[in-house]
Amino acid sequence: MPGAGTDRTKTAPAFAGPIVVLVEPQLGENIGTTARAMANFGLTRLRLVKPRDQWPNPRARAAASGADEILDEAQLYDTLEAAIGDCELVLATTARAHDQAKPVIDAQEAARLMQPHLSAGGNVAVVFGRERNGLENDEVGLADRIVTLPVNPAFASLNLAQAVVIIAYEWFNAATGGPLPFAMPQKSAPAPREQLLAFFADLERELERVEFFRPPEKRETMQINLRNIFLRMAPTQQDIQTLHGVVRAIAEGRKGPARGGILDGEEAQLLRTLLAEHGSARVPSERSPVRGLSRLLRRNPTDAERALWNALVNDRRFAGRGFKRQVPVGPHITDFVSFPLRVVIDLVPPDESEAAETTRAERRAWLDERGYQVMDVSAQEIEADVGKVLDRLDEHITMM
Ligand code: SAH
Repeated sequence: MPGAGTDRTKTAPAFAGPIVVLVEPQLGENIGTTARAMANFGLTRLRLVKPRDQWPNPRARAAASGADEILDEAQLYDTLEAAIGDCELVLATTARAHDQAKPVIDAQEAARLMQPHLSAGGNVAVVFGRERNGLENDEVGLADRIVTLPVNPAFASLNLAQAVVIIAYEWFNAATGGPLPFAMPQKSAPAPREQLLAFFADLERELERVEFFRPPEKRETMQINLRNIFLRMAPTQQDIQTLHGVVRAIAEGRKGPARGGILDGEEAQLLRTLLAEHGSARVPSERSPVRGLSRLLRRNPTDAERALWNALVNDRRFAGRGFKRQVPVGPHITDFVSFPLRVVIDLVPPDESEAAETTRAERRAWLDERGYQVMDVSAQEIEADVGKVLDRLDEHITMM
């Protein structure tokens, strides 16, 4: 099985790579994982010199994870000489110093050295030794270069296939130039300078309001430092829009409920009374005024509304039931609504006037007609025991 990231519709890059020669490999597993490592980095030609076990080897196949073709086409030889007979460049890999007058290079240098031979159509062999004791001195003696890897000297011997994968990786990198198979998606274009400057202006204006730039003599440096934070990010247009939104939210939140609301509890109540009595709770069908009003109401909850909302969102029974506060339902603004449940909670204010009562009745009829269950809750009830109100709501919902 080819595994994650493998795309069978894609073909391997078509350049000839070096031949991998394994001298007397002992474990079928290592031959299989060598084939897999080769396939990962576009190598195809495997030569085996006297593998210890029978060939073909089912353990090799199981370990190859689908790189079967390389195993099928592997060639068997009786001697290393025969296996490298048609090669013009031979590299011997080893973790050990063999005390020979032969240049020692690393995997990158090996890849560089191979390239001209390979592109001219010549055969290059990279020779790997046995698991137990690597390559013999005379075998290393047949090579043009010794390839060794910079490793922990106290633990220098790699697993056979892992040594192959490093050589294969470096070759692939050198041959292809190493482009990565995928990159971060560019979902939004880089923000143009003018968008950045507009954001800085917005941010700095808000910071000015809270006298952030103090003391005055540090102002300029602070401003430059702050701008540099964002410039280092190289933000996209989407990033700047998000940051704008953040600044707006903080700035407006500060004026809103975070500081107790533009209106205090009594004023918030008054706002509702006014809306109710002037029939404006039944707002004309244009969407934007309804939304504007509902936003105003949402930002200025009455004490009862705030208490009920806090209790509701902290009660697991109502988690995920879709309750919202002060949202338009058709031409009306409901105190609490769950669209999925089609349940509305109507907060009945204390000392409701006759006019307000009429408007509320109208709203209720409108909602009834459209299949909403309306539950009345009085402010006093919430004040007395908000838990009971939620129990009643839960009963109401489970009965539906
Ligand atoms: N015990 C053996 C190592 C065998 S590892 C020894 O002491 O030589 C099997 C093969 O993997 C080695 O023969 C060599 O071809 C390759 N190999 C392992 N570690 C390596 C390293 N650090 N550098 C280069 N090749 C290495």
